[in-house]
Amino acid sequence: MPTELPGPALRLSIDRDALAANWRVLNRLSGNARAGAAIKADAYGVGVGACVPALWDAGCRDFFVAHAAEADAALEHLPAGNLAVLHGPQSPSEARWMYRAGVRPVINSLRQARLWADAGGGSCDLMVDTGINRIGLAMEELGDPQIAMLEVDVLHSHLIAAEEQDNSVNQLQRHRWQDARQAIAHRRAALANSAGIALGPAFHGDLTRPGLALYGGIPCASLAGEIRQVVRPEAQLMQVREIEAGEGVGYNSTFVAPTAMRIGVLGIGYADGYLRSWSGKGAFLGGGRRLPVLGRVSMDMTVVDLGDAPELGEGDWVAADYALPEAATVSGLSQYELLTSLGQRFAR
Ligand SMILES: *Cc1c(COP(=O)(O)O)cnc(C)c1O
Repeated sequence: MPTELPGPALRLSIDRDALAANWRVLNRLSGNARAGAAIKADAYGVGVGACVPALWDAGCRDFFVAHAAEADAALEHLPAGNLAVLHGPQSPSEARWMYRAGVRPVINSLRQARLWADAGGGSCDLMVDTGINRIGLAMEELGDPQIAMLEVDVLHSHLIAAEEQDNSVNQLQRHRWQDARQAIAHRRAALANSAGIALGPAFHGDLTRPGLALYGGIPCASLAGEIRQVVRPEAQLMQVREIEAGEGVGYNSTFVAPTAMRIGVLGIGYADGYLRSWSGKGAFLGGGRRLPVLGRVSMDMTVVDLGDAPELGEGDWVAADYALPEAATVSGLSQYELLTSLGQRFAR
């Protein structure tokens, strides 16, 4: 009989208190509106299983996934009535599945309105395209009889550039959203993502849909100081080595030791979402010290400089320097990519 396998030397530390606090901050900043939560892409890579219960306990009651398949996973942690599928039904069978599961589709087109009616209909959301030109009902289609027949809970639109506070497209989209609110009977209206919340009460409606900022992302300056870091990738030192001056580290020796060095090997690499853009730029934190990444990040391994941390040895845990706004600047990745690329090998 094999004994039970211990956890991997790789874990994602998730600060549930910070997650809950971020939701409460965003809910407060949403004024008279309530904050929901975008939990698509497995809660931005952080993990639905860890995030949804914490958000629910904090008071969040409106959750959004992108695909129907994601709804299935989220329903392990949520009542169906609190969940909506942003992409809406893609096929008659998806529409029937949502109808039977009791999940609200977000209707994005006349075709989806038909699919939903054919599946049985009932409460749904409606996404109106006010300028982004992705999915969403065109403004010209608002008067269609198939739309008039929908039982709309949340009337949504989505902002193009909410993090650019002075961009006039925000006001244009808000006016179109107001026009849609006049044209369509609905219970609640929603427009703002994380950055949209910071645009003020005119953008709040009844419900906001933050994602990034829940998980520690800071899309605009006015949210800095309010939002706490949630996610820290952590890895165990697998091996410590002493190398001589002139020796290279990792593939293609992109780092060559200028002097004798003490280095550590971590079992984290680009397969875990610690992408090659961190090569020679990233750092880990351990024992209160900074451990710069040396040479190339490879698929399963990253090497760090232990010069400032002589007390660290094999088996010790270190954490990637992963405060999202700064990490985005250093890595050249977006804060969204830094979260959603985190891989499946982490113990969460
Ligand atoms: C992903 C998404 C959000 C959340 O956006 P953030 O910028 O992460 O806050 C809100 N609304 C819709 C429609 C989305 O697709």
